[in-house]
Amino acid sequence: MQDVMRCLQEELNDAPADTKAHRILQFMVQAKLAEMEKGRCEPQVFSRSALLLNVEGDLKGQTTNPTTWLPPGLLERFLESRQSALLDRLQRAGQDQMPVIRTNDGKGGKGIERAYWLDVAPLPEGIEADEPVRLLSRIEYRRTEAGEVKPSWLMRLVFRKGELKNRSWRGLLLLASILFGILLLGLWFLVGVWSVSSLDQGLTLRQLASTAFFVLCVWFMWGSFYAPWWRLVDDRVIKAPTALISLLEDSAELEVHRDSEGAQWTRFVRFSGDCPLCTGRVLLMPGEPDQVLPLVGRCVESPYAHVFSFDRVRMQGAFIGPPLI
Ligand SMILES: [Zn+2]
Repeated sequence: MQDVMRCLQEELNDAPADTKAHRILQFMVQAKLAEMEKGRCEPQVFSRSALLLNVEGDLKGQTTNPTTWLPPGLLERFLESRQSALLDRLQRAGQDQMPVIRTNDGKGGKGIERAYWLDVAPLPEGIEADEPVRLLSRIEYRRTEAGEVKPSWLMRLVFRKGELKNRSWRGLLLLASILFGILLLGLWFLVGVWSVSSLDQGLTLRQLASTAFFVLCVWFMWGSFYAPWWRLVDDRVIKAPTALISLLEDSAELEVHRDSEGAQWTRFVRFSGDCPLCTGRVLLMPGEPDQVLPLVGRCVESPYAHVFSFDRVRMQGAFIGPPLI
């Protein structure tokens, strides 16, 4: 068992990843080996909160919810993603067992807390070729709760807790201000074009530069404040422009949804998932330039190789990146 654990530790050290699952496993295997060197062989069980405190330190450990920090299946999926490299290593070392993650049935909350420990199992006889690929090509998305994603201060005036009922006075206010803004922008553009065209002498370089700057400003304002609302009506979910979200947020989406009474709402949310290939964080990003879909899930560790489709209704996606070798 000690040699199997050593193989796992070597694999983790030789192929590091900047992910939570990697850090947790590294801690667990280190602790397990230290115990075994003292001659103790019974399972070394860690509760979720013990793992959180040991891996993230006291400061973060006391303010984070262990249940959301370590979702069920995260460690298992990470080990699965490393399975072929690990099996290779074990076979070369002449081992006939492989490391596995064991858990109790604790659901978290007030009852028994979910706990994890490392164990060994016999090497699989023959792995079916299609099975791991099918498992590795599906992803589940999560949506943040209302109010978790902070809009910019201007949007906070209209969006209460990050949400807005479209048919309310706030919704109408937003619609009116968008239409008014577009009207102003159009007028400003026309006046600008007219003032340039009414010049009777040739353009100087300075006038040309100021015209270019003016056109750029109009384009920027259209792109970041007005065009997104138009796309939102058709697409239901769009990437929120950075001008509309708080500076502290790295990524967020705007979503239109219906409540149980059929009323339409617009809200700031963030969709994310765990990459089935490397357990990195998957966030929604534009499909351009390598994908046809407008919005896809991209893994932050490998944004152009680990790419997934996004189905907002089923909260699932399938692998659509370049073929896996
Ligand atoms: Zn990934």
